[in-house]
Amino acid sequence: MTIVLDKDQANESGLGERIGLECPYCGVYAHMTPQSVPDAASLMRDKPKQVGLVYQCDACHAPIFLRFTVREYSDNRVELLRNFVELERPKERFAFSYLPKHTEVLFREALACYSNNNFNAFASMCRRAANSSFLALGEGGKLRAFEEVMVAQDIAEINDETFAPIKAVLFGTGEEGDIPLLNRAQAGILLEVLKDMFYQCFVRHGKLTHAIKVRQFFVSEENNKLQSA
Ligand SMILES: [Zn+2]
Repeated sequence: MTIVLDKDQANESGLGERIGLECPYCGVYAHMTPQSVPDAASLMRDKPKQVGLVYQCDACHAPIFLRFTVREYSDNRVELLRNFVELERPKERFAFSYLPKHTEVLFREALACYSNNNFNAFASMCRRAANSSFLALGEGGKLRAFEEVMVAQDIAEINDETFAPIKAVLFGTGEEGDIPLLNRAQAGILLEVLKDMFYQCFVRHGKLTHAIKVRQFFVSEENNKLQSA
């Protein structure tokens, strides 16, 4: 199944069909409607190898730019392959405010690398973010984080072979040049494991102590009211 742009724009087909994406603006997995389609006649004159189309997110109406590869130019039509490149990827989210400042800066950059498919830059930034978090946790922090990651491996049932490069990125002590090369699948595991590690070491503690403080505040307010009544 391909997308066809017709010279008289009369017989476009496949354009609005089954393009569903996680929108980089609203985060909803939504259907995309074609909004701006290049003129087939000028494409046939210049014959570019790749063509850009703008779609509109059905959920928030933001414009989404997609790049398609041309399959074939023929007399009256341009045929595009259906697989496309998203020029803007959804941003990865995290409760950054619970992280130590230094770790937050590094982890935000790690996530930006991941969103742009730069998986080895992502791995390097994960090493730096993890190291900074060990320092922030203080003595025994690295060991504690390691134990949290071992629990995560167990819960997610990831085998040792798959998990070895993830551990090497986070806990390796060698030079940055020794960090193993990661593919998309491994980077995805690393992302979830590091998010979980930060959650266990910082976010959980921050949320829990905040929630308890709020409870205690209301209890003491009520006591004050009772005493003054
Ligand atoms: Zn949207």
